[in-house]
Amino acid sequence: MITPVLPTYARADLEFETGEGPYLVTASGERYLDFGAGVAVNVVGHAHPALIAALTEQAHKVWHTSNLYRVPGQDKLARRLIDLTFADTVFFANSGAEALECAIKMARKFHAAGGHPERYELITMEGAFHGRTLATIAAGGQAKYLEGFGPATPGFVQVPFGDLKALKEAIGPATAGVLIEPIQGEGGLRVVPRDILRNIRAICDEADILLVLDEVQTGVGRTGTLFAHEQAGITPDIMAIAKAIGGGFPVGACLATENAARGMTAGTHGSTFGGNPLAMAVANAVIDLVTEENFLPHVRELGIKLKQKLARLVDQHPTIIEEVRGEGLMIGLKCRVLNTDLVAALRKEHVLMIGAGDNVVRMLPPLNIEEKHLDEALDGLERACCALEEAAAQKQAAGATT
Ligand SMILES: *Cc1c(COP(=O)(O)O)cnc(C)c1O
Repeated sequence: MITPVLPTYARADLEFETGEGPYLVTASGERYLDFGAGVAVNVVGHAHPALIAALTEQAHKVWHTSNLYRVPGQDKLARRLIDLTFADTVFFANSGAEALECAIKMARKFHAAGGHPERYELITMEGAFHGRTLATIAAGGQAKYLEGFGPATPGFVQVPFGDLKALKEAIGPATAGVLIEPIQGEGGLRVVPRDILRNIRAICDEADILLVLDEVQTGVGRTGTLFAHEQAGITPDIMAIAKAIGGGFPVGACLATENAARGMTAGTHGSTFGGNPLAMAVANAVIDLVTEENFLPHVRELGIKLKQKLARLVDQHPTIIEEVRGEGLMIGLKCRVLNTDLVAALRKEHVLMIGAGDNVVRMLPPLNIEEKHLDEALDGLERACCALEEAAAQKQAAGATT
């Protein structure tokens, strides 16, 4: 019999009643160290007092008015995002996929408004993940997400990861732009090298096409800078963000230059809930915290420490972990065992991490953790690795006697 909740998720048999900073707590009081942060969402941990205050204060005023009227929180957040980034304008949505939908529509409309409606294709990279709507599964190009859902939405072509030659060759009269994640999240923490990002920017400029970045997972401080592309010294024309910007409240946004947004006039796009007053109150509070002077330096410092600690772990457990990848507090462990086995072994140690493609385990902790939380996660990893080694040794011994 089908479950009351549509069974599209392979959920762990675990539920939480409360959260406190980087911990999640079950009804029976068991504490778990949350190094997944709801897939890079709870950027300042659980139950942060400033976010609770922002949400409850707004909840006493007005929850929802729709985009038929001005929403002051949108004006405020948009101005702040513009001051902090390359962007001149912002559209608010409720999720990453919706932010990408706006980005995709905008890239197409840009060319249509310039007299080239035939330029509607975006070039993406193998291993990409851009969401689960019909357009974003086509953009991601992964067979496992496309299968059985009819013909893939047209307008996307894919090239091998980081292959500049293939990218150049893929550009044709139908190309509208290039859509990439600076670090592939779901794809397995694959970092696009900085010089490749710079080259892609130059290629887009030369071909008069748009660079669209998906910073849904990398954005809002995760990699040690407010946005990951800053580290390459480039800016996109359009950027989709979500996850961390709401700190746990569903918020997405599409940021763009004035030029890239030239086709997006009144009536071309919209959302009933997008940028609702509750969402904007929380997102503005997130920006308050993430832009505090010491916030991003702290992420960078902890990111370096985490990598150092993990290098030792890899040395000690070479049969379990092959390699450490990522930037800031977006770190992946490429596994020699099944990544799902390591995630399960960690869960037994009350540490939560998340699987990703390419047999990787992801660490995406809240960004305001302290070094002691890194040590606690490393202790859990150490014990989980030992448990997996022991299980493998037992299996081998059993094999030898039968
Ligand atoms: C999570 C994610 C998305 C999709 O976001 P949703 O909020 O699940 O729609 C898109 N792109 C990237 C890079 C992501 O990590």
